[in-house]
Amino acid sequence: MTHTSGSVSGDFAGLVRNFDIQPGVTADAIDAVLPQTQCRRCGFDGCLPYAQAIAGGRAAIDRCPPGGPAVIARLAALTGRCEIPPDPSCGPQPTPHRVVIDEQHCIGCTKCIQACPVDAIAGAVKFLHVVIGEACTGCDLCLPPCPVDCIEIRPVERQWTDTDAIAARRRFHAREQRLAIERTRQQERLQTLAQAKLQAIDSEPEDESTRRRRAIVQAAIIRARERVRTNAEGRR
Ligand code: SF4
Ligand code: SF4
Ligand code: SF4
Repeated sequence: MTHTSGSVSGDFAGLVRNFDIQPGVTADAIDAVLPQTQCRRCGFDGCLPYAQAIAGGRAAIDRCPPGGPAVIARLAALTGRCEIPPDPSCGPQPTPHRVVIDEQHCIGCTKCIQACPVDAIAGAVKFLHVVIGEACTGCDLCLPPCPVDCIEIRPVERQWTDTDAIAARRRFHAREQRLAIERTRQQERLQTLAQAKLQAIDSEPEDESTRRRRAIVQAAIIRARERVRTNAEGRR
């Protein structure tokens, strides 16, 4: 995660980048104000991590380019902080857009699927991929990984609404949950393999080599259990 604190000049100097927050304002309440494109232009890994940083007094309220001045005003009213201009280090406010994949050139590498924070791309290895239009937030995170530059930006003739944000938040959290479940299954598979290996080692004559290998496998099992536990906590 990257996070920089930009500078503010002119009439706003001295007023701003105050990280205090009114008591009782939760990360969820802040997240509810953010646009949920999950674009990471704020320097955090999505809207919720940025909301958590604001709630924790670790970030200013001026770092969301898709939200622009309107979201800063809402965040200021919610948190009790001063209303300030957008931090230019986060980039300009993007115009509403979605992306489409040029089917002539897509090679089915799946890199865009892995990058999309809201599961707005459908496809399988070596098959044409398509963007599910209404689910695309225009975050642009799929553009850099595409090895053949076949993802194109298309303007959208309407503004991003709170209803869009609610749908995008739902998709983002569903994806996070899916990934956590996949990580848990992978760790459980590793645990099963390691247990089998341990049994095999236990059936060998005891010597320095078996003790060393047993210690390595036991450490791997402990790490896998810890990851399963961490994933389960993350899903709560
Ligand atoms: S919309 Fe993008 S910049 Fe704004 S909070 Fe969400 S992830 Fe950060
Ligand atoms: S398809 Fe691309 S631009 Fe659209 S939400 Fe997914 S990653 Fe972002
Ligand atoms: S990253 Fe590009 S080439 Fe690979 S599947 Fe996506 S659109 Fe196709």
